[in-house]
Amino acid sequence: MKFVDEYRDPQAARALIAHVRRRASRAHRVMEICGGQTHTLIRYGIDQVLAGAVELIHGPGCPVCVTPLEKIDRALAIAARPGVVLATYGDMMRVPGSVGDLIAAKARGADVRIVYSPMDALKLAESLPGREVVFFAVGFETTAPANAMAVHEAERRGVRNFSALMSHVKVPPAVRAIMDDPGTRVEGFIAPGHVCTIMGSGEYEDLANAYRVPFVIAGFEPLDLLDGLATLVDLLEDGRAETVNRYGRSVRREGNPAARAVLDAVLETCDMNWRGIGTIPASGMRLAERYAAFDAEKRFAVGDLRVAEPEECIAGEVLKGRARPTDCAAFGTACTPERPLGAPMVSSEGACAAYHAYRRIAPAGEAR
Ligand code: SF4
Repeated sequence: MKFVDEYRDPQAARALIAHVRRRASRAHRVMEICGGQTHTLIRYGIDQVLAGAVELIHGPGCPVCVTPLEKIDRALAIAARPGVVLATYGDMMRVPGSVGDLIAAKARGADVRIVYSPMDALKLAESLPGREVVFFAVGFETTAPANAMAVHEAERRGVRNFSALMSHVKVPPAVRAIMDDPGTRVEGFIAPGHVCTIMGSGEYEDLANAYRVPFVIAGFEPLDLLDGLATLVDLLEDGRAETVNRYGRSVRREGNPAARAVLDAVLETCDMNWRGIGTIPASGMRLAERYAAFDAEKRFAVGDLRVAEPEECIAGEVLKGRARPTDCAAFGTACTPERPLGAPMVSSEGACAAYHAYRRIAPAGEAR
């Protein structure tokens, strides 16, 4: 299949693996930030085939996983209001809040609907003028422009029964939090190609200079990641703290100016609580004051909820790269995809879900 097969070519993969093994004088500790990349690395056994040359540390780039518990509780509280339709992506349905999940809310009679884009939610609002349609907008810089555009469109079209429950986060402040942690073990990063497609590579150049660690911007197919890791190992072996773009088919240095303009117009930076991690300064995006009328938290005034994570879930440690899913006592026992305790076991980008799906019961390089 065009645009798939050429990124999964076994011969090219073998050459890249041989390159990494030839260059690596030790196991380099590198973090792939994005949960989509984590799934590819685990699914194709790249962590196993490079064990001893590269130690992969999984990062916090799973939007569903880092959506704070209180935001799920707010979604549940809003969905319970009479006349409300809560529209959301499918993978948010089973993420547990402190009082259940959206599937359970739907079973109790709340009108919760799965949509495939924010514009679907806006169309829903236009088709249901007597109802309040709330779109649960989560994600990183990747999904934020489309969600921001839906709010902008709602204002432009005068759709007053549409609002957004926003939970958007940014990658660079999370990288800073990881590198400012005195216990960090990360020596280099695979940066997320889709985020850089929107935001460009400049922010990662600044991070590489500030922390003296290399970044390689990579895509999501097996060869994208093997190529990214080979480049990262070259940089680490040569002692070069640089940012290299290996996802040139999508990423430009300046990013996507039109998408960035929408972000600048509709959203503003705020502090954000990351699920399991805590508050990271200037790491979130919320609706700018001009669009306050479309802010579901203001429209429905659900209050300032603060709730604790289940004690047995160590998702915060997993998301910070300090622990692997298999370090969690609940992994595969009390916590499974059918009965998840934490978001990383639910999300299609969660590290715990990846380890469970591809039957990793011990860290790469150890007996399994
Ligand atoms: S296995 Fe489950 S309980 Fe453990 S960290 Fe992952 S999501 Fe949390």
